[in-house]
Amino acid sequence: KDEGKNKVVIPTQEEVYEVFKAISDKTILVTKAVSEKRIKPYFQPIMRNSTGEIDCCEVLSRIETPEGVLNAYEFIEIAEKINLISRLDIILLENAIIEVIKSNFKGLLFVNLSPRSLVMSEFIPEVMRITKEYNFDRSRLVFEITERETVKNLSLLEKFIANLRVEGFKFAIDDFGSGFCSFQYLRRFPVDFIKIEGEFVRNILNDRKDHILVKTLSIIAREFDIKTIAEYVESKELLDEMKNLGITYSQGYFIGKPSPNLP
Ligand code: C2E
Ligand code: CA
Ligand code: CA
Repeated sequence: KDEGKNKVVIPTQEEVYEVFKAISDKTILVTKAVSEKRIKPYFQPIMRNSTGEIDCCEVLSRIETPEGVLNAYEFIEIAEKINLISRLDIILLENAIIEVIKSNFKGLLFVNLSPRSLVMSEFIPEVMRITKEYNFDRSRLVFEITERETVKNLSLLEKFIANLRVEGFKFAIDDFGSGFCSFQYLRRFPVDFIKIEGEFVRNILNDRKDHILVKTLSIIAREFDIKTIAEYVESKELLDEMKNLGITYSQGYFIGKPSPNLP
């Protein structure tokens, strides 16, 4: 028990039980949602800075429960731990395509992939099956690969990206700048977009170093012929600054929150 400042806090048996119960309840919930294909796509608009046009959107996964909607950050990690993430990614892709076909949205669809999904042998055949079945133009799909999670086998990832690019799919590096190998990714992977980590974007108005980093990144990307997307654009001031710095696209609560409806 917490009696003094420097004492170790030993949880009671009931407290330990509560924590384990919460984890296992969520694990069961995620497992059920995946097996029943109840992974719901939410769409967040991405705006072209030069014209204000919404010609891209990102798909984010949600699970609806009687108590409310679960955000991805509340269950993606669990799905990864129990090895269900590649199933989840495929189900979400299919559900998202079904929604896009029913809508008037004609732009690019950005989809998050866990690096684990990409290297699963079933992944490429499944993606090919879905795009064929719904006759969905492959050049409208952009796979986001996060830089946050360290990938041990970069050459395997390189091969998978190359195989999918041949089929017409596009790629983006997500959370650029959050990991330790940003420039490795930039050098090795032929991508169409870089999504600049929201934590940098958020800070640029009051942190000189972050401002310089984003400004320089914008120049490098242009030289590489890669489009830039700023995440977490939460205010008009930030949006104006992104335009000043020549960032191609903006995404964030100021542009629009994730919603079940397409832009
Ligand atoms: P992410 O790809 O960086 O997605 C952005 C996250 O930030 C989303 O949370 C989104 O709701 C939130 N966000 C968007 N704009 C703003 C903003 O202006 N301010 C703030 N504070 N937050 C903003 P979400 O949906 O909970 O997703 C969390 C992470 O989970 C995602 O980060 C992505 O890495 C992962 N994820 C989401 N869906 C999937 C999926 O279907 N498959 C995989 N493998 N990962 C997914
Ligand atoms: Ca993303
Ligand atoms: Ca991101």
